[in-house]
Amino acid sequence: MSRTPFCPESERPGVIPVVHPDRPGYNIRVTSLSQTLRRIPSVSQVLLRDPVRTLLEQHPRHLVVEEIQSLLEELRTSIQQKNWSEKDFEKEFQHLDLRIRQRLDERLLPSLRRVVNASGVLIHTNIGRAPISEAASRAIAETAGSYSNLEFDLAGGKRGHRDQHFEARMVRLLGCEAATVCNNNAAAIFLVLDTFSQGKKVLVSRGELIEIGGSFRLPAILEKSGARLKEVGTTNKTRTADYEAEVDEETALILRVHPSNFKIVGFAQRPALADLVELAQKRNLILVKDAGSGYLFSTPHPSLRSEPTVKSALSQGVDLVCFSGDKLMGGPQAGIIVGKKKLVEAIRRNPLMRAFRVDKCTHAALEHTLIEYEKGTYSSTLPVYRMLSARTEDLRLRAQGLNDQLDPAVFEGEIRDGVSLIGGGAAPGEPIPTCVLAILSHQLSAQALERKLREHAQPVIARIEGDRLLLDFRTVFPEEDEVLLAALTSRAVSKPGQ
Ligand SMILES: *Cc1c(COP(=O)(O)O)cnc(C)c1O
Repeated sequence: MSRTPFCPESERPGVIPVVHPDRPGYNIRVTSLSQTLRRIPSVSQVLLRDPVRTLLEQHPRHLVVEEIQSLLEELRTSIQQKNWSEKDFEKEFQHLDLRIRQRLDERLLPSLRRVVNASGVLIHTNIGRAPISEAASRAIAETAGSYSNLEFDLAGGKRGHRDQHFEARMVRLLGCEAATVCNNNAAAIFLVLDTFSQGKKVLVSRGELIEIGGSFRLPAILEKSGARLKEVGTTNKTRTADYEAEVDEETALILRVHPSNFKIVGFAQRPALADLVELAQKRNLILVKDAGSGYLFSTPHPSLRSEPTVKSALSQGVDLVCFSGDKLMGGPQAGIIVGKKKLVEAIRRNPLMRAFRVDKCTHAALEHTLIEYEKGTYSSTLPVYRMLSARTEDLRLRAQGLNDQLDPAVFEGEIRDGVSLIGGGAAPGEPIPTCVLAILSHQLSAQALERKLREHAQPVIARIEGDRLLLDFRTVFPEEDEVLLAALTSRAVSKPGQ
């Protein structure tokens, strides 16, 4: 029981009888707004309530006080805006202690949490791109919580370089001369331009001046690096001669960009990579390829058959290739630069490299990702490749399994053929056949259902098609099927409004 009731009976404001306009003679009693407002207790009164005293034993006082303050503030606003009656007020105040506890619990919960990806987009920037392998995750945890030979040469007992862990592996894997790594591909491109083309001209095809979600705009990065962008050709057609016509004393570099998230179809053309290699060699320019997704070498996945590989760009003679670590490579967020030794070393010496270097956790995860490639186990251990190669029949069984457990009084579920996407700037428009569970709720619209799943304790990200919610099992980890079930059978979803 509360020792100090926030509003003792004796202090209750009087109620003013009014006449209901539509029903003459039918008197209802309401309090005025200011009277309702006056019933809001003070923070110190709330602090004396027994349940709140218990909270004070568990949490720092300032935390409890802050949450009470903001809760009372919200109440005040609600009363004013929604014109609360005394009854609404009573109802809300019954739950005062509970609300404070909920607010504290929520405040102490991490805001960054695991979500279930039922969207069917494998590499989705908004939900963290590629999940890394189990070995890489374990390596992150271990490296983060301990000391390591990050920059220490154990054999020689002297200072080492953090690139030592990853460079030799990358070089072996791709057959290139050298490799280095920075925070992300945007930083990699910036470092390359900053190192080789400050104040000089960089040639880029008009059709490749791309923008990538999250405000990465190639021209903006170029400009920041101090390079002078020279656009060549037109949006749909660029020929080798267009590049050649622009080469002069001032020209340092040709940048070839993988048009990662769109496709120009129809009357379109750009030079073969080999032609650019030839031109760069003839005119003594550095040829750099922004390979975007980091598809290292060919894998037996039909949806990736037309995706250019890093290895082939290198073997065709491109001087430097840069790409993201957390897209198709299936590793941690990183920008990887591979290619000619002389050039990579110049980049490594750039003082800005210090500002863009990656931490020990990234190095740990990178190395473990590359080990999977070396061992040849990547297609079963890197989640992106495991998802890509999941058989549609197996996905169908899982979809069916979930559907069988749903209450037909609440949902109508239908197993359908569908399409997953790689995303993350790879194979734009290249569909991957999949199997989806298309759900119709008898109580909620598809939009409302989508929102409830997103707001579930273990959030589920799904997509909507027509009046149905689609769950694509290709991007759901098998052990997460039970989360889908829990979300769909939760009170909020199966008994909304109760
Ligand atoms: C994704 C992408 C980038 C940006 O890479 P980040 O690692 O996000 O910085 C740059 N270029 C291309 C072609 C891309 O696909």
